[in-house]
Amino acid sequence: MRACDKKSGSHLRARCDAQRVSDEPESARRPFMPARETEAIILKTFPLGEADRLVSFFGRTSGRIRGVAGGARRIKNRYGSSLELLSHVQIWYVEKETRDLVRIQQCELLESFHKAQADYGLSTGLALVSEIAERVLPEQEVAEPMFRLLLLTAREIERRGEWKLPLAYFAFWTLKLGGWMPPLDRCMNCGKRLGDAPAFQSALFDGMHCADCRKVGMKPLSAAGRELGVKFSAKLDEISIGPGEKEPLLELRETLLNWIELHTERKLFAREMLETN
Ligand SMILES: [Zn+2]
Repeated sequence: MRACDKKSGSHLRARCDAQRVSDEPESARRPFMPARETEAIILKTFPLGEADRLVSFFGRTSGRIRGVAGGARRIKNRYGSSLELLSHVQIWYVEKETRDLVRIQQCELLESFHKAQADYGLSTGLALVSEIAERVLPEQEVAEPMFRLLLLTAREIERRGEWKLPLAYFAFWTLKLGGWMPPLDRCMNCGKRLGDAPAFQSALFDGMHCADCRKVGMKPLSAAGRELGVKFSAKLDEISIGPGEKEPLLELRETLLNWIELHTERKLFAREMLETN
């Protein structure tokens, strides 16, 4: 910890700053903050300049944060494979009072999802999970249930070697945790119970619609698809999908992704990229 730590009090900090004025160039004269540490999940990385990476991570004790991993694009770098999509890591970073981005000092892999990250088809599932998380998580807000959901989803994509069920489960619980999940058993428009009848949905309207209230462009979600929602109250690693449930699962996934787009007011880019074969 530095003597110029913010927590050391304004008097001491003022003195430290004053000291710097005399012997440091203008650009370096920023107040230093102590290094922070958190368990995190890597959401996204982008190349930054010639040698660095911009990293978006979701810290268990920090919430979603963006930072710069200096030198991460060099062949020999200190991050190894810890900055891969949805890697579970321990991360150390320094906040700067005058910048939005933190500086990542160190990142160590706690758990990697190598199989999923290396497989093109599986990585399209990881990418959509990460895009949804990036979209719904507010910056710097701790969200323990979302952290556990994200980790469970990545683990299950890796363990099962498929993303369809884990992605639908993730979308379902993202809507639930966000308070956005409409009832699946009644019409949002007239309130009628849907029973075994097919119901309809789209990205433009919230909730299920009965055949009488169906609007142009709405797609069906069968009773079997809606029933899967009931199954999703169990933990993901305890759920299995029978051969007859593949189509209902697809319908449910499309419905849930539509509603995430509705509530976040933007199309999900990675949705178009999903490798469905
Ligand atoms: Zn209706």
